[in-house]
Amino acid sequence: MSTMNNPRSTLHALMPMGQGTTEVESLTSYFCRLAHSHGMTARNLAAWTLEHYEQPIPDDFKWFRRSFGGMSTETEQWAVWLAELTGIANLDHLTLVPWRHLISNPGLTPASDRWCPCCLTEDRAHQQSPYLRLCWDFAPVTACLRHKVGLRSECPHCGKSNVRNRATTVVVGYCTSCGGFLGDAETEAATPQALWSARQVGQMLAKPPRIASDGVTKLLETIIEKMADGNAAAFAQELNLSKSGVWHWLRKGGLPTLPAWLSIALHGGISLEKLYAGELANWKLPTEPVQFAMQLSTSPRKGIQSRELDWEAIRQQLHGILAEEVPITLAEACQRTGVEHKLLYLRANTEARAIADRYRRHQAALKEAKEARLQAEVGELIRERLDAEYEGISAREVWQQLDGDLKTIRHTYRQVAKAIAAND
Ligand SMILES: [Zn+2]
Ligand SMILES: [Zn+2]
Repeated sequence: MSTMNNPRSTLHALMPMGQGTTEVESLTSYFCRLAHSHGMTARNLAAWTLEHYEQPIPDDFKWFRRSFGGMSTETEQWAVWLAELTGIANLDHLTLVPWRHLISNPGLTPASDRWCPCCLTEDRAHQQSPYLRLCWDFAPVTACLRHKVGLRSECPHCGKSNVRNRATTVVVGYCTSCGGFLGDAETEAATPQALWSARQVGQMLAKPPRIASDGVTKLLETIIEKMADGNAAAFAQELNLSKSGVWHWLRKGGLPTLPAWLSIALHGGISLEKLYAGELANWKLPTEPVQFAMQLSTSPRKGIQSRELDWEAIRQQLHGILAEEVPITLAEACQRTGVEHKLLYLRANTEARAIADRYRRHQAALKEAKEARLQAEVGELIRERLDAEYEGISAREVWQQLDGDLKTIRHTYRQVAKAIAAND
């Protein structure tokens, strides 16, 4: 097991900033910094990646129209591709993908790209490359928790908006239109309400949820039970949500929007982080209702599914696969572990890449051996022919005499012709 090969990554193994904190970097930012570290434009790195994975590149390709920050399958695909290319695990944690079974899209995307000028200034003062925080990309967040100021969306130098990362070339922290430093913007103190939302979302982003997708309805039921004695209509009214919307969550698998989740957290006096961890056992409502004491007898954690896989055991299993004599494809490894390949690249990155790499090298060695056998066989055939006083042999004649295995070599004809030339 000590022989595990950790293949070199194709792209720089750039570390994301702020991982596991409220100031976690966004994948958009990571991607721009990765391109910059290779001396490439973001556009060219995006095009190169698409080409690498044999994806079409439209004529008017704009990389930033690709979804890097949300929770779509496209975002997830980019996180997986970049994890595979850089060898850095958990890049989906730089997006909202881990929360997509909990949050619905409406009310998520801000009208324009925002940033905290103080954060960018501080990054630069600490001699590190400025980076964009994931939480800036969600509409309910309008303030910076660290600096207690409102986020900005206009360049302080040219006054334009959407100049943060919507361009072919991006130097994170600098205006894509005039090149001015975005950290120079004036700031205003944030309201307590804005800071509260920023804290909730920040803490949520610091830690992926533990609620599994089949535990969400149970979670919502528990919330409504706790906050309104199970009365969905009263719950909707208290939180100023539509009754049909709440009904949809409970009966049709609908999901609350991020603003609705924040409303639950605010009225319930509980953090989003705790809700998504299913930690409801010690949840006390802000104003204690009379029937509160009776509900403590059962633990609301019960019945809420956790999505955590035993990664230690899965990694062990992958190490076992790597120690086996015959290399297998990553697809086979996925089947054996029961984990899809995206997750393997994101959570057991080194092992996944080692398995894929080992299989690739194994295939290459097989191919090389086959080609060597082909060369030898052609040489033999030519010698036989010459001994029998023939002029030589055509590629076609050689082909007819090859065994089935050798016929499976790619471009056999070309190989045969090469072998004949080499034996001339
Ligand atoms: Zn800040
Ligand atoms: Zn500007």
